[in-house]
Amino acid sequence: MYDALTSRYTFACPSAGESRVVLSAFRTIEPLAGTSHPVVYRVRFACPCGDEHDGLVSHDELDWAPLGLDGGVFLNLMTSRVEPVATELAEIAAARIKAGEWPWSFFCYPEERPRPVSPSSFLLLTPGRRALGLAIRCPACRRTSVNVVSHEHVDVPFHNDREVGVVEHVFAEDVLATVEEFQAELWSSRFDARRLALE
Ligand SMILES: [Zn+2]
Ligand SMILES: [Zn+2]
Repeated sequence: MYDALTSRYTFACPSAGESRVVLSAFRTIEPLAGTSHPVVYRVRFACPCGDEHDGLVSHDELDWAPLGLDGGVFLNLMTSRVEPVATELAEIAAARIKAGEWPWSFFCYPEERPRPVSPSSFLLLTPGRRALGLAIRCPACRRTSVNVVSHEHVDVPFHNDREVGVVEHVFAEDVLATVEEFQAELWSSRFDARRLALE
């Protein structure tokens, strides 16, 4: 499902058979009703074929696979052998997290502070001309904030934009129910730049 080498998720596509997309191609992420442990997420993604489709992703694939904690192999150029990627990437990821770096972060508007986050807390992603509007349910206060970020901020673990745009608006609990309204509001809102440094 997730390929750590290309940072892409594989989903079924009705016209192409299969498509491979990055995390920032996801449009909505919601826990599937009736699944608890482990939670399965229904994602809607923008497919290269031009349509949007639904796919299912496990919690591990969403939050851990991009860190290399979910298997896969890579070609070791030093030994010319194909080797499992998990341990190596996992060690790097663990060391960086211990050093205080976090793979993903966002600015919580109700709390007025940056917070670490995982992709399973992303609710909605909506592309603008260059940036990406990202609605996040804060893992700490459970309220929804909207940040305007680069694609890399989402797609590349440990790449955190130094500053993100913060929409100065407390969004309704059920932001997913009003996707179109949300998109219209997002790109007409005023953003304020906030620094994302996590202490
Ligand atoms: Zn497609
Ligand atoms: Zn918060």
